[in-house]
Amino acid sequence: MTRFVSSIFSRFFRLLYPRTCVVCGDVLVDGELFLCSACLSGLPLNEGVDEEADRVLTDDLGIEHLYWLFRYDRASDFHKLVYAIKYRSNRELGVWTGKMLGERMKDVRGIDCIIPVPLHPEREKKRGFNQAFLIGTGIASVLGGRIEPEVLRRVVNTPSQTGLERGQRADNVAKAFELGNTTRVEGCHVLLVDDVVTSGATIRACMMELSKIKGVRVSVACLGKSGSI
Ligand SMILES: [Zn+2]
Repeated sequence: MTRFVSSIFSRFFRLLYPRTCVVCGDVLVDGELFLCSACLSGLPLNEGVDEEADRVLTDDLGIEHLYWLFRYDRASDFHKLVYAIKYRSNRELGVWTGKMLGERMKDVRGIDCIIPVPLHPEREKKRGFNQAFLIGTGIASVLGGRIEPEVLRRVVNTPSQTGLERGQRADNVAKAFELGNTTRVEGCHVLLVDDVVTSGATIRACMMELSKIKGVRVSVACLGKSGSI
């Protein structure tokens, strides 16, 4: 009886406050989560068509592999997927998209731990969470591996990268990171996780620090990869 009442209540609640697709805003139907079926099937997923461009980028950044979920374009409505996580505090969406990315990395072997690209403590306090940590949590739930949020610290509270040109992005974020406690990741293959890789400036700045760790190898996973790279 209690379950019946709670089901009636939740149906009534959904009538008043229907769940909507984070991309197009249409009301979701039962079985749909975060995205409507049309948006989910239209998501420009990484289908491995860009392997050559990825190789150029990984060589440039000094990383082993780059994994990404979908092509990120600020002119496309799919950018709202990341916006909803970062600026509308949709934490569950962060974990869910991380799981989706992890599912597509299932053939990956040998990742020892996950390092989310850190926010500056002030920004994390203001936002209440680090979106890269949420995405990393989703990936870890599929692939396993421990999350190591203390290895990298963001010591400069840089302004947002959004809207900056490539050179400005690099200047903005260079020297923004420092190493914390690295003893647990020496000799490890780490997966550095961020929400979006656009110019690669943030990853490059992280790599400057991570490469100082003895025997470390780094791969990168992100939800969105900008097509302009
Ligand atoms: Zn939709």
